[in-house]
Amino acid sequence: MKKLTGIPVSKGIVIGKAFLFLDTDFAEIPRFRIEKKQTAEEWARFLAAVNEARENIGSLQHVQKSVTGEEDGILNTHLLMLEDTDFHEQIKRRLETGLQNIECVVWDVAAEFSRKLAASPVSYLRERAADIADITGRLLNILLNIKKPSLADLTEDVIIVTRDLLPSEAVTMNKRRVKALVMGAGSQTSHTAILAKAFEIPAVFGLPGITSEVTSGDTLIVDGGTGEVLIKPAAKTIEKYQVLIVKAHEKKDKQEALRDLPAETADGYRVALNANIEFPEEMEQVLRYGAEGIGLYRTEFLFLNAGYAEEDEQFRAYSHVIKAMGNKPVTIRTIDVGGDKILPNLRSVEEKNPLLGLRGIRFSLAHPDLFKVQLRAILRASVFGVVKIMFPMISGFTELETALSILEEAKRECRDKGAAFSERIEVGSMIEIPAAVVIADILAEKSEFFSIGTNDLIQYSLAVDRNNEQVGYLSQPFHPVVLRLIKKTIDEAHAAGIKVAMCGELAGNPKATAVLLGLGLDEFSMSAPQIPPVKQIIRRTNIEKCRVLARNLLMCKTVRDAEAALKEGDG
Ligand code: PEP
Ligand code: MG
Repeated sequence: MKKLTGIPVSKGIVIGKAFLFLDTDFAEIPRFRIEKKQTAEEWARFLAAVNEARENIGSLQHVQKSVTGEEDGILNTHLLMLEDTDFHEQIKRRLETGLQNIECVVWDVAAEFSRKLAASPVSYLRERAADIADITGRLLNILLNIKKPSLADLTEDVIIVTRDLLPSEAVTMNKRRVKALVMGAGSQTSHTAILAKAFEIPAVFGLPGITSEVTSGDTLIVDGGTGEVLIKPAAKTIEKYQVLIVKAHEKKDKQEALRDLPAETADGYRVALNANIEFPEEMEQVLRYGAEGIGLYRTEFLFLNAGYAEEDEQFRAYSHVIKAMGNKPVTIRTIDVGGDKILPNLRSVEEKNPLLGLRGIRFSLAHPDLFKVQLRAILRASVFGVVKIMFPMISGFTELETALSILEEAKRECRDKGAAFSERIEVGSMIEIPAAVVIADILAEKSEFFSIGTNDLIQYSLAVDRNNEQVGYLSQPFHPVVLRLIKKTIDEAHAAGIKVAMCGELAGNPKATAVLLGLGLDEFSMSAPQIPPVKQIIRRTNIEKCRVLARNLLMCKTVRDAEAALKEGDG
């Protein structure tokens, strides 16, 4: 048996079989000359590969539809591209004039297509470059007889062991069959981590050598709460963990019994506990865990399926969520792409520093037409309930003013078209860049609420890439810098008479609950399964104790001191 400890990302203990999911490396494509008479044979191989790819996509679509109930837009696009006559003609021409094997012809033609698309001034065309890469990989896997398994058509229960998994891959995997996720890369706040939590899949990340330690079929124990991964455990160890699994279920049942009780301290201090969602399909879970509202709807994940979501499609998704919540508020965040949220079809230009690039509101302001489509869809859906809108990655007052003026334009357009919308929509700013904290008093003039995104706030204030496991240890929520930034945001907001929510992962971290209460946070928003444990802590504490704890923590000079003060506060 071997025990490794990585970053605990999504809670839960699982005993199961490993499934190694490895990347394909096309760097070394065989490249050789062929005789003129061989071209017909190579062309036939290409057509057969296209056929097989088409069949693979067809069966993927079938699985995808049976899981989500919807057609997958990306897969539809890929089917169209596979059939593209221009693509076929160019391959044939190059094969006949260049006299090289079909693998390298496919590679070269695809590279040319991608280059042209990437240079296009039309963003929709630029975004298609990622699809070309996807279908090229699919065709080359077939031609070179490389079996890259697809996570969408898993038929057995598995624990996925992989170097890295893109959020897009996590979305399309067959979630019913994925019992746990163990990854070399990643951190607690990477988007794949956020998805693992949303899907309630136990996960441990940050184990760089994991793919060489484990073989497919190995028995693994994964403890997403402690970050432990046990490889080929002894029968006795398995028995011990089986007991722990039963206990964990009992604890969960107890916490879930609090569902309909308020998030109120023992001395009557009330806060709101909301849920973060990525997909409308999460609503059943959100209601099951007793969320009082949606504090963060990460709408960019809607674009993952189709690359571009039409206004009506967005309207349907938002309406579904708003209707499901009844009269409880739904905070819709406008699209936030970039960083690790590389959505295959919504990728804009290549950036050397994507985390400092065209992310969040910057993307929307650079594409006002796309932005207005989203705003109109939200506005139209607002008639079904209580809607709030918030803008991600605000770094200055002008950005906020521009976003607000585009919202006004979208409202005018709705009125012109006779489309009804609620006149009472609160609009807020996400506070996730240190610059926004520094000018919180100014932003508060035009914001009806703040929502602190600690995932990015920690990343940008401590200069720690939230996806880089090498520096993950520096991503410290109890760092004095982070605590002071949170305090300043809350104080400035309260001075201006507006409320502050937090929707970063820290809001759902039970270790942070008391101190956040003590700092005066009004609303907590987290992945729905985190609500019961956080509520339990709130109901057991009292506000004065929390305020003392917060004051103590703010005086600490180091993370170590702060964590010691937290432990003492627990006692
Ligand atoms: C955050 O940055 O804390 C946040 C909630 O936004 P996201 O994780 O989607 O970047
Ligand atoms: Mg963020």
